[in-house]
Amino acid sequence: MKPKSTFATAINCMDGRVQIPVIEWMKQKYNVQFVDMITEPGPDKILSKESSELVNSIRNRVVISIEKHCSEVIAVTGHDDCAGNPVSKEIHIEHIKNSIETIKSWNLPVSVIGLWINKDLEVEELNYQ
Ligand SMILES: [Zn+2]
Repeated sequence: MKPKSTFATAINCMDGRVQIPVIEWMKQKYNVQFVDMITEPGPDKILSKESSELVNSIRNRVVISIEKHCSEVIAVTGHDDCAGNPVSKEIHIEHIKNSIETIKSWNLPVSVIGLWINKDLEVEELNYQ
């Protein structure tokens, strides 16, 4: 029997400011105990491209989180004042959208969401119509 999922997964920036806000938001939203954190500088920029060595590396880590920890949701994030992806909020929003498409193309049995962390370190879920 599949154990109850108590993990979620975030592909987050390495920036120290955005770790706890994302963890706390996901724990609350999905009622999980732990959030597996896959960090890179500016992950929304990295995942805007469909393939690269780094995209493969991120995918491998996501698969571990799903297969070993039974995570059922993957968040990809962008944040204000990102050193790894120093672009406007509008471009971040576009990058996050493209990143969701990249992750969905992996055909994994999980939900994929996009999060924006604003200058006050508040987490906002992005809704793309
Ligand atoms: Zn960043």
